[in-house]
Amino acid sequence: MRYATTALPVLTLTTGPVDAYPAVLRGLASPVLYDYDPAFQTTYQRVCETLKSVVRSETVPVLLHGEPVLALEAAAASLIGPGDVVLNLVSGVYAKGFEGWAARSGAEIVELAVPYDSVIEPSAVAEALRQRPDVTIVAACHHDTPSGTVNPIDEIGAVVARHGALFLVDTVSSFGGMPVDAASCRADMFITGPNKCLGCPPALSILGVSERSWAKMAATATAPRDSILSILDWRDAWRADRPFPFTPSVAEVNGLEAALDLYIAEGPDAVWARHALTAKACRAGILAMGLSLWPREERFASPTCTAVRTPVGIDEAALRAEIRARYGVVLSSGRGETLGRLTRIGHMGPTAQPIHAVTAVAAFGGALAALGHAVDVGRGVAAALAAIDAG
Ligand SMILES: *Cc1c(COP(=O)(O)O)cnc(C)c1O
Repeated sequence: MRYATTALPVLTLTTGPVDAYPAVLRGLASPVLYDYDPAFQTTYQRVCETLKSVVRSETVPVLLHGEPVLALEAAAASLIGPGDVVLNLVSGVYAKGFEGWAARSGAEIVELAVPYDSVIEPSAVAEALRQRPDVTIVAACHHDTPSGTVNPIDEIGAVVARHGALFLVDTVSSFGGMPVDAASCRADMFITGPNKCLGCPPALSILGVSERSWAKMAATATAPRDSILSILDWRDAWRADRPFPFTPSVAEVNGLEAALDLYIAEGPDAVWARHALTAKACRAGILAMGLSLWPREERFASPTCTAVRTPVGIDEAALRAEIRARYGVVLSSGRGETLGRLTRIGHMGPTAQPIHAVTAVAAFGGALAALGHAVDVGRGVAAALAAIDAG
């Protein structure tokens, strides 16, 4: 039996876009109210205030109405001015990509880079800041998704706080799936979105902004105003009695409210444990089949994404196509430098369920065998189950 490429997949185990929670889909289907209807303005304020409690930012988070690349570009344009020196911590494709936006501001960019299967050590950040005490902004990506590796962001944040620079962090694919928030990593600009671990479709950005960042943006003459890239324009838009700079994504805000209700009802600790156990089961199954993880040390591996190194002699795109055609399971490719070198099993939001690890491991092993790279699928499945039963 083969699934046609045009047929709906059975299971989407990707790293974004991810499958959405059914309750989120119901939220999206709520009536689309006029944005100045008091019922919607009240909802908008409630969603932003709820976000403040889960993001733990100093001020009420800003929603921008496009998927989180909008927030990354807007943050670079708003926070970074021509006189700044930015230390960019690069352990993967997203952090590297941020450099392009940061450089547009005319700032000097200093890069601290590690191979994309490794992570940034806090001591290396401390050393870089000792060498360049004039750094004004440090930028980092917590979980660089195309590598499936997680930087020790809270420890890095403590180093940055001691130095005094502003700390900008991309937590798009980690927030909601592992313990991190704006307070834990002392972020001045905490950039995330509901479209990964909170189980919403891609359409919104969430920014947790510190008082110092608001002051810096206000003092940055080049910070966009009257622009889709403006953060400053949205500063007070969370308040029901204040205007929106332009029409917010009404349906997506309703979807986000449903996602936050789920997250709070299940409890962040339980949600993170569900992600961690799914990842642990995936890793156990992959390793038991004799395959390798992409992260050079297992402790670098993400609880929200398992990146599997492509075995020698296997065409990665053909492997994913075989997994889909044979079993109806969709996995993610690498990206940029990791494209073709790894396959990613996503466990974010509703797909962070341990039993899906068993399916992913079995499908991975079965397709590899079909392509001539025989592995012991039974061992992989048994190891994934054992990890679940032990968890
Ligand atoms: C998904 C993601 C983003 C948003 O980018 P898209 O790929 O366009 O959705 C930004 N940063 C990280 C780390 C992400 O995983």
